[in-house]
Amino acid sequence: MKECKVVQDLLPNYIENLTNEETNKFIEEHLKNCEQCKKIYDNMKKDLNVDNKTKEKKKVKFLKKYRNKLRVLEIILLIIVVAFVINTGRKMYIIADLNNKSEEYVNSENYHRITYSLDNGNYTKSEIFSLGDKKKLIITTMTEDARKQVITIYATKTGTVPDTKYATTYPPTEIYKQNMYKETETEKIAILDLEIGMSVDVQKAFWGVDNTKDLILTAITSSINKATFNGEECYYVSGTQNILLNTGMYVDKDTGLMIATMASEYENPDGEKGRIAGAEYKYEFGAVTEDDFVEPDINDYTIQDANNNISE
Ligand SMILES: [Zn+2]
Repeated sequence: MKECKVVQDLLPNYIENLTNEETNKFIEEHLKNCEQCKKIYDNMKKDLNVDNKTKEKKKVKFLKKYRNKLRVLEIILLIIVVAFVINTGRKMYIIADLNNKSEEYVNSENYHRITYSLDNGNYTKSEIFSLGDKKKLIITTMTEDARKQVITIYATKTGTVPDTKYATTYPPTEIYKQNMYKETETEKIAILDLEIGMSVDVQKAFWGVDNTKDLILTAITSSINKATFNGEECYYVSGTQNILLNTGMYVDKDTGLMIATMASEYENPDGEKGRIAGAEYKYEFGAVTEDDFVEPDINDYTIQDANNNISE
């Protein structure tokens, strides 16, 4: 009876193979001869087996669940990748299409562009009349204290600044011979025969996007959404590719031209807050005539030279 107690104490370890050989022999010898201990042993073993089986089942269930979760993650990831590719493709298509459309207007020989902008409280309306090499610029400024100034420039292109740094991304700066007429409420001044470099252009929305790499990069970094501006259906484009995209712009669907940019705040190197103009652009093609280049009567003006000296 005393031996039974010892054997029964050892049984759990014996079943789990934790006992040494001598003990095993002792237990096995005892089990052969003791009905009661054999019964206990059989029951224990059965219980353990059942226990192991449920453990096994649980393990399989867990693995299945885990695998299902992985599958779901894979599918979600795949959906994200596919959505990204489709969206980038969509943007590439829109940008390429707008670029194509704008090409016709960028090289237009005859256009009239009006720009309205508000920059640091100064309201400016600038107009460009372009007829081949002839340009007329009218810049009307309304300051915060409601003082109005109109500068009209008649310019004729005489050359192009060769190979500027920006020649590939922006229209090259052109040289113009020009007469300038300035009119305020108190004075009328004319400065004649100036030679000045300037860029006069139609506002194509996507300057410099002329290869596949730029197209992909611009598509990835910019967001393009359908929008309306002054009742016209257009695209709203914003992103990180360049300053204009960064602040956002409205692009005409039919011409690929910029019709508005958003004003944005900036800080200059002196730590002063300023604002980059938000502007609105209006275009008219084929309507400029020679009549737009008839200069005013010089006798109404005080003549200055380029150094602001009044000449006799
Ligand atoms: Zn026994």
